[in-house]
Amino acid sequence: KAKSNGRSTYCFFEPAMDAGIQQRRKLEIDLRQAIAGNQFEIYYQPQVNAGTEEIVGFEALLRWHHPERGLVSPAEFIPLAEETGLIVPLGEWVLRRACKDAANWPGDVRVAVNLSPLQFRSPSLTHIVISALADSGLSAFRLELEITESVLLTDSETALATLHHIRGLGVRIAMDDFGTGYSSLSYLRLFPFDKIKIDQSFIRELGESKDCAAIVKAVVDLGSSLGITTTAEGVETTNQLDRVREHGCTEIQGYFFGKPLPLSHVEKLLLERSPPSPADHRDEPVRP
Ligand code: C2E
Ligand code: MG
Ligand code: MG
Ligand code: MG
Repeated sequence: KAKSNGRSTYCFFEPAMDAGIQQRRKLEIDLRQAIAGNQFEIYYQPQVNAGTEEIVGFEALLRWHHPERGLVSPAEFIPLAEETGLIVPLGEWVLRRACKDAANWPGDVRVAVNLSPLQFRSPSLTHIVISALADSGLSAFRLELEITESVLLTDSETALATLHHIRGLGVRIAMDDFGTGYSSLSYLRLFPFDKIKIDQSFIRELGESKDCAAIVKAVVDLGSSLGITTTAEGVETTNQLDRVREHGCTEIQGYFFGKPLPLSHVEKLLLERSPPSPADHRDEPVRP
């Protein structure tokens, strides 16, 4: 019998728990097959300049087309991929694919890729980043890597060294979900992030909560005095948009400007939204 006292009360014979474990095992097997069977697709969500509404980049968000269950949310499978170590090959695939996709986008449009803590600790990360850039031909400054504070929680000296190395390549580093972790402020002192993404939980209540407004304003002011771009995540309404603009947020990402889209839609959107500037035609042969 599993231990019944103490803090952890795992009981492997309890039917409900057993079903949970079974389900998780099934998902893990499915996940392994999904990697081999190309069941993943990257969706891209636009990030716009708060002032001009110009598209400045896209965040790569992983989607899993499960053969029986349809689209499975990353909130469900990323934690499992992390626990099982599968996030390492999966994350490498995302990074390489996203760099290749973005290399075809016009101008300086960036791509932002999420890195999970385990992936971040893998010793080959820097080499994978270098190789993904070289293979795709994407300029380093068009790649942005998003990390969360949890990356810096364990072995932060090695983590900081990795961050400095990658940033030294010209790749931008963003702190994701800012405000949801433990000691955001000290990390800002330790590492020169290029961007702070204010977590959507603060944006959601901007209209109703004075506290949220105060926090957003404080983060934006902090960012601007440190020379760090601030992105408001999860902007859905005109009201939220007006408020994040009022507070001086640099960039906006949210359903208001667009949900995550398949690649083909991204290419169409870029053609519609940003007509090529005359400079883009410099090398084209002159037509009679
Ligand atoms: P995240 O990196 O914070 O990404 C933003 C999430 O917010 C995305 O959810 C996006 O679809 C959602 N979102 C954006 N705007 C809005 C909005 O206006 N309203 C609402 N309600 N939601 C909005 P998604 O795509 O489900 O991804 C969830 C999380 O899964 C991501 O959070 C990220 O932590 C993780 N994730 C996704 N793709 C990858 C990946 O390739 N690698 C890793 N390691 N994690 C990933
Ligand atoms: Mg992110
Ligand atoms: Mg986020
Ligand atoms: Mg998140």
